[in-house]
Amino acid sequence: MRVFSDGFESGIPERYERFGQWPRGVARRARVEVCCMPSTVLKTAKMITLVAAREFGVYSALKHSNWRNERLLILGYHGISLRDEHLWRCGLFMPVDLFARRMELISRLGCTVLPLHDALSRLRTHTLAPMSIVITFDDGFYNFYCAAYPVLKRYRYPVTVYQTSYYSACERPLFHLLCSYILWKGFGKIIDSKVFTDHTGPLDLRTAGGVNTAAARVWAFARSAKLSQEERQTLAEKLADFVGLDYSSIVKARLFNLMNRAELSELVHEGVDVQLHTHRHRMPNDKAMFLADLAENREFLKTIGQLGARYFAYPSGLYRSEVFPWLSDAGVRSATTCETGMVGPDSNCMCLPRLIDGSGLSEPEFESWLCGFRSFLWSGSPR
Ligand SMILES: [Zn+2]
Repeated sequence: MRVFSDGFESGIPERYERFGQWPRGVARRARVEVCCMPSTVLKTAKMITLVAAREFGVYSALKHSNWRNERLLILGYHGISLRDEHLWRCGLFMPVDLFARRMELISRLGCTVLPLHDALSRLRTHTLAPMSIVITFDDGFYNFYCAAYPVLKRYRYPVTVYQTSYYSACERPLFHLLCSYILWKGFGKIIDSKVFTDHTGPLDLRTAGGVNTAAARVWAFARSAKLSQEERQTLAEKLADFVGLDYSSIVKARLFNLMNRAELSELVHEGVDVQLHTHRHRMPNDKAMFLADLAENREFLKTIGQLGARYFAYPSGLYRSEVFPWLSDAGVRSATTCETGMVGPDSNCMCLPRLIDGSGLSEPEFESWLCGFRSFLWSGSPR
């Protein structure tokens, strides 16, 4: 089982100091803890290796090799920043100009961007085009519609959006992300815990760990008190007031909303492939509950014009082998994870790896993945 924290179900996000930056240059102590010498040396060594490999023609050789032609790189994205979300969680959000540069590099290197179903079919028949890649987005944030899609359209790249549907249908901001972002923006403050949780004492936002704890407490309270969507939004608004943030502007900008039915229908009409990602972004242990949630997700996709969705991405990248036959029974043809790697001829179609691209990935590293060099290093000699 693997978990990729994308902020829906996992509760506490990964270590903030690894994920992003802090307002006003704070949390220096936390950064120093993780920026230790060995990791700096390793990073430098890695960059030297990548540059040397490119300069000595390894990339060019790999690009045209049978080894690369037998492999598919599936790129995975989540959100594109509408403001400063990438500074908060660089693994989840990417600035639009960086995303545009990624797409430009894909074009410049001569990669072939294929629709997901076509790429998987070609993989089976050993007829992939040179440097084949697939572009996928998880969750279906509103920022896909207004920021990512215009870039993709410019390049005429096909794309698959794995759409979770509960928040699309109710058209409200994702509470977990909203609260976490508000608390991050309130860094340095101390607020009264009793107003937002069932704990007494302060919520201390003066450290990264303190903000993490505060977010976890607020989420836990909302769950245990069984707050309705309306009550959760009221709580988030109150939290924003306490940290001095303009709540209405966040809501108006739809920073943490998913695409609604009208937007999704428009995209499906334009040829965007919208696929399964569960209704409530969860993986129930019970088979009947799992299949019921999947069916609800599929029914929602029907209402936006996507009939018979058959491709799936595990929410939060979390998967376990017992669900493979469940997915097959439900007519699912492939399932993608957040495990890092390229898809090869022997890959299990129910746990396909991807490269989850984010602001933390440098351009040389991204290029090394497109060419296959990074995957080749891990897997051995080209055939
Ligand atoms: Zn997701």
